[in-house]
Amino acid sequence: MTKDILGIAASSGIAIAKAFRLENSELTVEKTAVTNIDQEVARFNQALETSKSELEEIKEHAHKELGEDKAAIFAAHLLVLSDPELINPIKGKIQNEQVNAEFALNEVAAMFIDMFETMKNEYMKERAADIRDVTKRVIAHLLGVQIPNPSMISEEVIIIAEDLTPSDTAQLNRQYVKGFITDIGGRTSHSAIMARSMEIPAVVGTKTVTEQVTHGTLLILDGLDGKIIVDPSAETISDYERKKAAYEAQKAEYAKLVNEPTFSQDGHHVELAANIGTPADVKSVIENGAEGIGLYRTEFLYMGRDKLPTEEEQFEAYKAVLEGMNGKPVVVRTLDIGGDKELPYLNLPKEMNPFLGHRAIRLCLDVQHLFRTQLRALLRASVYGNLKVMFPMIATLEEFRGAKAILLEEKQNLEAEGIEVSDSIEVGMMVEIPSSAIMADLFAKEVDFFSIGTNDLIQYTLAADRMNERVSYLYQPYHPAILRLVQMVIKAAHKEGKWVGMCGEMAGDEVAIPLLLGLGLDEFSMSATSVLAARSQISTLSKADIEAVIDTVLTMTTAEEVETFIRNTLIKSQSLTMMK
Ligand code: PEP
Ligand code: MG
Repeated sequence: MTKDILGIAASSGIAIAKAFRLENSELTVEKTAVTNIDQEVARFNQALETSKSELEEIKEHAHKELGEDKAAIFAAHLLVLSDPELINPIKGKIQNEQVNAEFALNEVAAMFIDMFETMKNEYMKERAADIRDVTKRVIAHLLGVQIPNPSMISEEVIIIAEDLTPSDTAQLNRQYVKGFITDIGGRTSHSAIMARSMEIPAVVGTKTVTEQVTHGTLLILDGLDGKIIVDPSAETISDYERKKAAYEAQKAEYAKLVNEPTFSQDGHHVELAANIGTPADVKSVIENGAEGIGLYRTEFLYMGRDKLPTEEEQFEAYKAVLEGMNGKPVVVRTLDIGGDKELPYLNLPKEMNPFLGHRAIRLCLDVQHLFRTQLRALLRASVYGNLKVMFPMIATLEEFRGAKAILLEEKQNLEAEGIEVSDSIEVGMMVEIPSSAIMADLFAKEVDFFSIGTNDLIQYTLAADRMNERVSYLYQPYHPAILRLVQMVIKAAHKEGKWVGMCGEMAGDEVAIPLLLGLGLDEFSMSATSVLAARSQISTLSKADIEAVIDTVLTMTTAEEVETFIRNTLIKSQSLTMMK
């Protein structure tokens, strides 16, 4: 009997389907001498044609499922494969040097990639990424290695992979991909966050799923308890079908709260907002009854493509979100690239510690054209709704002041051009670095609001990489150190009459919610799918009762003590749909 595989419950729901192994194949190219030149050239032509027809198919699929802009990436790839400037030198090398096709291709492609990468012109730099991508495809065909494409899956499956990047996740076809399981990652890795917004059940950080499960094996993925059952018996399948039905029934019960405001049992109002990654997520925000958007992660607009989005493209996206929310607040976070969110086409150097590196606001203050284009698009969109802007990864007051000054400068520039900009945009910041939590009293004098980003605040406070399943035991949201920092931030903001939200995953966590209510958090922003469960939970809680015990909780010595206390005293019944 196979043992169950345990991991981290990353996105709730239950899936029963066959495993689909998604491999990130490493391609090793070796040089060999060939004697039959014509045959080698024919082999190259064949691989080229197969790659082209595959790309045509992917382009069609992307066009239908993901829209024109994603399809354009593959159109560009097709052009590369038809370019005689690339293809002829490869054939020439095979003929003149009597070498194998994959070696000739690799050498010629490397030369072009180098050449394009060192050019100043952004457009030319992007061609390097195209060449890298397409040559990988042709080499894979020459070597007889399959390159799986997650957007092309056409039967119901559960994906198993070592890791999924956020852009892999964005490409998953929800109709067929019923869930995913990874070896690495944590609950706050961005692929996990995206799975929640796409409502795809997921278990991450299993360490060994790719070793233990072979392609095609039947699996049950339990995204509620973080468990995988391999090759289940008929009896287990029917148990899980019942659990799935109970989960759906609870969701239907919560749906009755969709148009209700959020009040605690003793009449205290809080705002429940949702986190989004793309304009398409607004639909789920409305369906799940969120009162606003507390975090729009704009970096997803920059991902899954091969060049920067233009000001116009960004303007359209921000406008769509603001209009879609119909006057409700929308907190847009400026570009937070770095950590597990990479943009290959920026060609940023690899860093030893990407989560502590040249990223987010640091990058934006440095490479200002990136930042200014985004701010212009945001300011232009501001007249279409209730926009609030916040900056990510603020560590120092100078950074906040610098970013705000650029925002104001761009506002003046637009006004000088005769373009209308709203006068009531609030400007706030994420509190996700301990220095800004500790200095919250001083920041509070200058910001309009704070949004506490606990995903990062926890990793930086406990020095535990949020992506690393081996230190996930140290990644403790209920650690008294975290609760104390949250309290400091809320107190400091309220003293200055400013509001405080939380947009880290902790805001939708059933153990954290009572604590955050008691600490006086004003806005809770979470995955849209957690909103109704949170509303239901808050209606059972008395803020006054929690306030009476909050000092006791903050003097507890461990996260475990805190959790046990909350579960025993404040959580009436466990929710199936919420994060646990
Ligand atoms: C956070 O750090 O809590 C946050 C919301 O930002 P992200 O998860 O995108 O880093
Ligand atoms: Mg963050």
